[in-house]
Amino acid sequence: MRFADKFFSVFLFALVFAFGQSSACAEVPEFDDRHAFFLLEAQCAIGPRNPGSTGHAQGLEFLQRELSFWADTVFLQTFTYDSKDRGTTLRLSNIIGRLKPEARSRILLCAHWDTRPVADHDPNPENWDTPILGANDGASGVAVLLEIARRCALDPPDIGVDIVLFDGEDYGIDGSPTDWLIGSKYFARNPVIPRVRYGILLDLIGDRDLHIPIEDASFFYAREIVEKIWTTARDLGITTFENRIGQAIYDDHIPLNEAGLPTVDVVDFDYEFWHTVRDTPAECSPKSLEDVGRVIMHVIYNEKP
Ligand SMILES: [Zn+2]
Repeated sequence: MRFADKFFSVFLFALVFAFGQSSACAEVPEFDDRHAFFLLEAQCAIGPRNPGSTGHAQGLEFLQRELSFWADTVFLQTFTYDSKDRGTTLRLSNIIGRLKPEARSRILLCAHWDTRPVADHDPNPENWDTPILGANDGASGVAVLLEIARRCALDPPDIGVDIVLFDGEDYGIDGSPTDWLIGSKYFARNPVIPRVRYGILLDLIGDRDLHIPIEDASFFYAREIVEKIWTTARDLGITTFENRIGQAIYDDHIPLNEAGLPTVDVVDFDYEFWHTVRDTPAECSPKSLEDVGRVIMHVIYNEKP
């Protein structure tokens, strides 16, 4: 993921919007922050999960298995991708888990599971070709979604939930638009699940010092969903979600929004160790996963079919 200049400044001055009424409070299961953090660490214990690596193959197996404990059905959307920028041919797999597949009213939750093949923002140039561990950039969003899947399986909400873990998000070269968001672009072009009402993307939400402004492109494409999420956070007293418009990010929600599915990116792009070898569990915290997990759980359990 990288900066998106396309939207930058569109709403720069705008719009600390007036929040609506408090949402009704459904019975919402607890989000287990320790379990979520364990899932973050378990992904990192595999090592870097960049496409083509051994860790990528092991990560795929691990996540498929974890998700199948909780989802009613799990399947892969596997495809081949030729990277012109890096001169490689990749086997990539989006991992899809469906909860309550019979429910007609559904939402989509997503995150990327691959990690970056190069630590090209590391302060030490000797690390620029080293794959990153991706504790925050990759594992954090996936960990929260797996814990949400577990809770939703044990105590189903009124709506159906589809979870998509995208591959090939972070393969691109800085300055070239082509090799980013490969899995989500493919998913948007080749739909394999029935229509959902909206999507929520989680990315970079494990940072110990977590601040989540409203991502600018989400506000442009999916303002109602933004208001729903940030109002829920306010009602829960979770100040990690900040009532201000942040920068636009070129992330997996862009292909979905461009394909007509309103999708919000919950993301803290202000991370000191972004694309460095120090993107490790030590820089993440269970509390950050919990803040995000609780808000998303409340959104899910307050949805009516
Ligand atoms: Zn990244």
